Amino acid sequence: MNLEGFLACPSCDVLFDISTLEDGESAHCSRCGHFLSTYRADATQRVIAYTSSALMLLALACSYPFMSFKASGLESVMTLPQTALNLWHYGMPGLAFLVAAFIIFIPALVLVLMLALNVALLFERDCDWLRPVGRLIYWLQNWSMVEVFFIGVLVSLVKIGHMATVIMGLSFWAYALFSLFFVLSLAGLDRAQYWQRIEALQS
Ligand SMILES: [Zn+2]
Repeated sequence: MNLEGFLACPSCDVLFDISTLEDGESAHCSRCGHFLSTYRADATQRVIAYTSSALMLLALACSYPFMSFKASGLESVMTLPQTALNLWHYGMPGLAFLVAAFIIFIPALVLVLMLALNVALLFERDCDWLRPVGRLIYWLQNWSMVEVFFIGVLVSLVKIGHMATVIMGLSFWAYALFSLFFVLSLAGLDRAQYWQRIEALQS
């Protein structure tokens, strides 16, 4: 039996043919309702646009002041890399390393890998690294905490707002947009569709 185009429901193992999906259609398991896949004809172009925008916004976010605080005539300016560097200076190198990894380096690596994978798929280049890179992207995205960090910043703003005047810098808005594009990039990367495309390219 040729199982090309078939996908087993991750929840109850029923087999479904997802190769007949039309542009913009989603498939759910008819037995348990588990989401299976969404097909978009322009998925690679979309993900390339989202990932390249996200990378540029991250570069902007790392280059300009994130926030400045004014209290009792004193002003201090903080950049995004300083959020991690300050932890280092306060004697918490492990935590500094994790913060930098979760909010800057892992998201940047995920984006670069997604960009490479999508460019290869767009030009139908059969490269040996497609499968390992695909697996690495899905594993690494669990370790990126872009949205968690940004929500944490918003919550802490409410507290700091009572003690000092807080001015959001260019980097803050760039990181907000970066978070949005990062989420859009991951949302565009439909696991079932990508594995099928990689398999089709390598068969
Ligand atoms: Zn199911």
